[in-house]
Amino acid sequence: MTALPFLLRLRELRVLDDATELALTREGILTLGDLELAIAEDRPFTADARLRRAAGLLARESRPITLGRAWDILDACIESLALHCPALEAIEASGGVRRAEPIVNGLVIVARAADPARAVECLTALPTATEVRHRTLCRALLLFQGYEIDVRVTTADEYGSLLFATTGPPGHVVDVLSRGGPRLNASETEIYASAGLVYLPPETRDGPDALDRALRRDVPPLVQREDIRGDLHMHTTYSDGRDPLRRMIQATHELGYEYIAITDHSEHAGAARTVTLDQLARQRDEIARLREKAPGMTILHGLEVDILPDGTLDCPDAVLATLDIVLASLHDSAGQDRRQLTRRCVAAIRHPLVSVITHPGNQLVGRRPEYDMDYPAIYSAAVETGTALEIDGAPSHLDLSGERAREAVQAGVTVVIDSDCHRARALDRHMRMGVGTARRGWVEPRHVLNTRPIGEVLAFIAAKRGH
Ligand SMILES: [Zn+2]
Ligand SMILES: [Zn+2]
Repeated sequence: MTALPFLLRLRELRVLDDATELALTREGILTLGDLELAIAEDRPFTADARLRRAAGLLARESRPITLGRAWDILDACIESLALHCPALEAIEASGGVRRAEPIVNGLVIVARAADPARAVECLTALPTATEVRHRTLCRALLLFQGYEIDVRVTTADEYGSLLFATTGPPGHVVDVLSRGGPRLNASETEIYASAGLVYLPPETRDGPDALDRALRRDVPPLVQREDIRGDLHMHTTYSDGRDPLRRMIQATHELGYEYIAITDHSEHAGAARTVTLDQLARQRDEIARLREKAPGMTILHGLEVDILPDGTLDCPDAVLATLDIVLASLHDSAGQDRRQLTRRCVAAIRHPLVSVITHPGNQLVGRRPEYDMDYPAIYSAAVETGTALEIDGAPSHLDLSGERAREAVQAGVTVVIDSDCHRARALDRHMRMGVGTARRGWVEPRHVLNTRPIGEVLAFIAAKRGH
């Protein structure tokens, strides 16, 4: 068995003598996540200040993974586990992915098995794993696609506790468990109940007031993937999408959507390919022809139009007026400061033909923070004009973020959750990430435009257009 990189690194940092290493392995501390939980729990051996400092250092030097990448890796691993280890049941992603964190530290999968020890044996023979870094009776650390995945297996009795503990974050787990109650044979809901709390969805558990709200029983049903009736933002090969219009329509129809909007990039957008006015007219005709291929689904012809540096739109109003829906977005800050960017965004919000502002802060997860803007001013302009702000589910964006989405709906904004998808096979996954992001912001179905029937969506657009 290979020595764990986690333990080797602690040795390098000179915080690990033989006795501490023994204590760590005996307690099942095999990953940084385990150590963080142990520290949150104040377990005796974590009193060593050097160990606590090392945990902080390791967290800073850990290899963060974007939610999109983490999701891909875990999905592939779960698929492989389901195929090769039939003894495993209810295999699911836990940890930061289950909480829909935009940047994830540590990959965890949990599963049930009647005989965990035997199931773990099967794990270690997984042909898709390049290495088994560690194995105990209920757990294996696998190297899969170059990433360490912590696969935890338990019996049905203990599954709820395992799911709860591995979902984290560590501080939250300790806060809930310290309120007492049984931990065996308990579902997650029962764990919360025995602590005098109502169940908190995983995506909310990072929030500073999550526990308070659970105590006050103020946890409304949050939006779910099943609530989503349509997707109002996607690209085709008319601009920088990878799949042709026909394929996107077919895929969304197969997803059971009641409506979609085709929204390619306007002519001067910074995208690799954009749609000219001529092509836009051709696209309208092609959509008209394809409508019969998707019975029961309304296809809106739209455009994701760039907001130019002076706040005007990258398309004449006369053309925009022929479209069923217009989305507007900032794709380039043009070196502008907070005041200028805010003014530019608000100008687009005030345009009567603009129904949605897509990825308002234009963040790129892990690469570029959201634009510095006066967000409260943006929320109030959106409310005043009846413009929706988007929660963009593309894993590169996840914008509005959970925190911003929460502020927005509190301010009374209608949000829309879109895939902003550029390829058919990712439509559902992007939508799920958008929904996860919305749930991090405590967004409820009533706040979301595309949980509503098409008639209400069209009425929302028409109301702003003034007819
Ligand atoms: Zn965009
Ligand atoms: Zn887009």
